[in-house]
Amino acid sequence: EPRWRSKATEEKIFVTVRIRPLNAKELSKREFSVWECTDDKTVSYTYNSSERAPFPQSYCFDKVFGPEIATKDVYENGAKDVALSALSGKNATIFAYGQTSSGKTYTMNGITESATDDIFAHIKQHDDSVFVIKFSALEIYNEVASDLLNPESGPLRLMDDPERGTIILRLVEKVVEDKNHLRSLLDLCESHRQVGETALNDISSRSHQIIRLSIESSPRLMSDETPVKSLVAVLNFVDLAGSERASLSHSDGIRLKEGCYINRSLLTLSTVIRKLSVQDELNRGRVGHVPYRDSKLTRILQSSLGGNARTAIICTMSSSNRHVEQTRNTLFFALCAK
Ligand code: ADP
Ligand code: MG
Repeated sequence: EPRWRSKATEEKIFVTVRIRPLNAKELSKREFSVWECTDDKTVSYTYNSSERAPFPQSYCFDKVFGPEIATKDVYENGAKDVALSALSGKNATIFAYGQTSSGKTYTMNGITESATDDIFAHIKQHDDSVFVIKFSALEIYNEVASDLLNPESGPLRLMDDPERGTIILRLVEKVVEDKNHLRSLLDLCESHRQVGETALNDISSRSHQIIRLSIESSPRLMSDETPVKSLVAVLNFVDLAGSERASLSHSDGIRLKEGCYINRSLLTLSTVIRKLSVQDELNRGRVGHVPYRDSKLTRILQSSLGGNARTAIICTMSSSNRHVEQTRNTLFFALCAK
């Protein structure tokens, strides 16, 4: 079909899929792979049965990473351009989307590490500029946002500022000194994350985590030069809650409530992404209403989604026959984002 699309690296929403390998436990249960990366942009359902599957066999994205691809290469080809655009003053967001245990955290942790390595390397190479990197981190759980650097502070309040957009009141921001300092901040956040046991029999994260780096740069000045306005951009690393429906984990009571909220946040996110993707495609200013305000996640990310902001979505999936239903849901989400 006719598609009006700019050069891949310049697209505002860059959508990739990563297939994780089957692990020893899955193999011991005789699970097998039914999805394959058939070329570097296509994932195909390859289960060799006499009947065709009652759904499309092949799905195309900006890039598909097979189980043999290392996280470093997923970063290089799926997130690097977006991450580094924050160094030139553009807000950017990198998402990991997928069902629990599909590899979101594994992928996002590696990407955060590679991106921050590149950012510090860039700073070293550009001593004609002064950079200030600030770190903050938050978690959204049951539509309540909390500070991962300071979890005791309780629910974070959001406020709308006509100039700066959504402001998160009292969110702790730490100026990052170097790579080791950043690593220790990430470790601290990790230890503060909510985890819940579900009937999926896996410790699954039911919360969304946002790691944000605010990157400020300005030219290094001689004492007699007049200061110029500095460039500021926010780079978000978002490890989303598991995309599975609450019913799949046979949950009830409090877990079901959590599931509903998670669906609401993810649903809003997918609506927002879908609308933005249509705008991107039509290359027009505005196409209707984008419902950023319908969830905490999209409110917090509003200034880093759409407009001049760059977005990369890495959809993680298992190739196992056991997860076909969920994997299809993930692929449909990914298709809508294109
Ligand atoms: P999620 O965050 O989506 O729930 P995880 O990132 O925790 O999933 O991954 C589940 C398990 O699979 C972890 O033990 C992780 O180390 C492993 N894993 C995920 N992706 C890969 C991969 N591409 N290669 C090897 N192991 C992986
Ligand atoms: Mg996880």
